[in-house]
Amino acid sequence: MEVLFLGTGASLGVPVLGCTCDVCRSEAAEDQRLRTSVLVRSAGEHILIDAGPDFRAQCLTHGITRIDSFLFTHPHFDHIGGLDETRAVYYAMDRRPLHFYAEEFTFEGIRKHFDYLFPASGKPQYHGAPEYRFITLEAGKPFDTKANRVTPLRAWHGDMPVTGYRIGKLVYLTDVKKVPEPARAAIDKDTVLVVSALHRKPHPLHFNLDEALEFIDQTRPARAYLTHISHWMGKWAEVKEEIRRRRLPVPVMPAYDGLRIHI
Ligand SMILES: [Zn+2]
Ligand SMILES: [Zn+2]
Repeated sequence: MEVLFLGTGASLGVPVLGCTCDVCRSEAAEDQRLRTSVLVRSAGEHILIDAGPDFRAQCLTHGITRIDSFLFTHPHFDHIGGLDETRAVYYAMDRRPLHFYAEEFTFEGIRKHFDYLFPASGKPQYHGAPEYRFITLEAGKPFDTKANRVTPLRAWHGDMPVTGYRIGKLVYLTDVKKVPEPARAAIDKDTVLVVSALHRKPHPLHFNLDEALEFIDQTRPARAYLTHISHWMGKWAEVKEEIRRRRLPVPVMPAYDGLRIHI
């Protein structure tokens, strides 16, 4: 399995429009962060988790022309804002129906934001709207995509539920503030964990750096990568070095756009 980080930035991305802080002016490739999303390639299947406002740019950068399954974590715009661009994926895939997997609360948000593509009833009022299949998930109940078994995991983004995913040895948790059992139990010593860490101060909806590292320390995966990072976190190279100096029991690295990991 290969995991390609298409975006590792928080909702505004890095650089933040109009910001002149050190991180936003950094020329290092690792400090350019699009909105959070990954492409998982496993058993010949291409699985995308979230399609934010940078989805089109991410597909162009990495030559992505095929997505077999779209998984969504929650309906905040930085995770679904690229859905209009799925029209192009549909055309590139010979107009085969696109498969969307999410819990009902996420589909509700998707329908609200994109009612011209996904009307609650009847046909889309939009010429050339692709054909979509909405497959509704239930947290804790594994399901099969084209070629993979996936388990949706219940975590919390403040008061809002958020869906994490386990695919083989990968556990992906973004926009989390609380990860109760049984989602926690999905992580074991063979797991490669991707977890969000927004910045350094406490935040009502997100793990900050300390909370994410504490979670990793408690759950003890084989290794872990941080994502959904804001400019307040600092420059990638400095954050990486700071985490190394903390001598955590498992290897942890802040992810960056374009990072590929093999599991
Ligand atoms: Zn987000
Ligand atoms: Zn969010």
